[in-house]
Amino acid sequence: MDTTIKEILTQEEFSKKNIIRLLKSEGEDRTLLFKKSADVKEKFIGNKVWFRGLIEFSNVCGKDCLYCGIRKGNKNLERYSLSDDEILAAARFAYDNRYGSIALQSGELESQFVTNRIESLLHKIKELSNGELGVTLSVGEQEPEVYKKWYEAGAHRYLLRVESTNQDLYNKIHPNDSKHNFNRRLECLKSLQDIGYQTGTGVMIGLPFQTIDDLAGDLLFMKEFNIDMCGMGPYIEHADTPLIEHAENLLPLKERFDLTLKMIAIIRIMMRDINIVAATALQTIDPIGREKAVKIGANILMPNITPGKYRDSYKLYDNKPCTDDSAEDCQSCLEARVRLADAEVIYGEWGDSKHYNGRRLKAKG
Ligand code: SAH
Ligand code: SF4
Repeated sequence: MDTTIKEILTQEEFSKKNIIRLLKSEGEDRTLLFKKSADVKEKFIGNKVWFRGLIEFSNVCGKDCLYCGIRKGNKNLERYSLSDDEILAAARFAYDNRYGSIALQSGELESQFVTNRIESLLHKIKELSNGELGVTLSVGEQEPEVYKKWYEAGAHRYLLRVESTNQDLYNKIHPNDSKHNFNRRLECLKSLQDIGYQTGTGVMIGLPFQTIDDLAGDLLFMKEFNIDMCGMGPYIEHADTPLIEHAENLLPLKERFDLTLKMIAIIRIMMRDINIVAATALQTIDPIGREKAVKIGANILMPNITPGKYRDSYKLYDNKPCTDDSAEDCQSCLEARVRLADAEVIYGEWGDSKHYNGRRLKAKG
């Protein structure tokens, strides 16, 4: 007879077969999975949430990922880039409101101009916050020297989702050219880790062609790669992208949502002390989607502090929530929401990945 879910959940390491069983769990088994992941979070992280004020500073992108609403080929949107002053004002808002950190995110451009601009912004952000604001970057694939420059200028976390670790699937959701190369994505992740960043990755869940086997492989990759942070969210179709032609074959949104919660729960159990983001895309499907993720294992929320007038233009997917809000709205709304999940927002702290600290200590021997 097969082992029960209860037995699987007592194991230290999960085999691929057992991860698949957990991903398929229903009813009481599913409840057991979520109870276990909530317990692991409580024990190793506490019932806490840290904020990263998210500044989506530009939707200009040189790439053409087939799923993404701000891909270069989409002509149906206005392109914008925040000025330095606007970015610094948003950073100051985060600092004044005692968010421990901000995250700077944009489309992907590789150029000397971008390299220098981000470097100079990092210095200014550190200066205006007396070195107190932590900074996460999420600006795509870059050369190792560029990552190094930004690290030295004060960025200390980097989010680069691998999107899918099945190379065949990766190739189906990206154009097949040198700009969208799976191996480069992996090389970038490796160089981020080598330079010393707290390194975050993740995947989209419910992509066309994606199988449960793929998702189990993604979780095993993250464990094997020894990531410090994880950001995973449901794939949500965007009408102005090539992948929309597969919309009819997708899992229903509710199932994508449920699978995302299970992925979060399983990675929390597998890598108990990493930071896990409750992705905004969860809220597109369920109004309290992020809170549900916090309850079962996530510990990071990214309140959007991009100036309101630009938010409508940073639509990676359709029905992105909160595009009409201001930063103040986000703050009070999120705080109430976190309480709803019986958790507490920790202000004025970086909320670094404990896993990273442990990993660095081990490396020093
Ligand atoms: N350009 C950078 C950062 C911005 S995109 C990068 O690509 O790394 C940030 C994330 O948005 C991507 O990693 C992708 O996982 C997610 N995303 C893009 N399109 C999406 C969609 N249609 N549904 C859900 N997530 C999407
Ligand atoms: Fe550009 Fe990132 Fe969207 Fe790809 S996912 S098109 S790199 S913004």
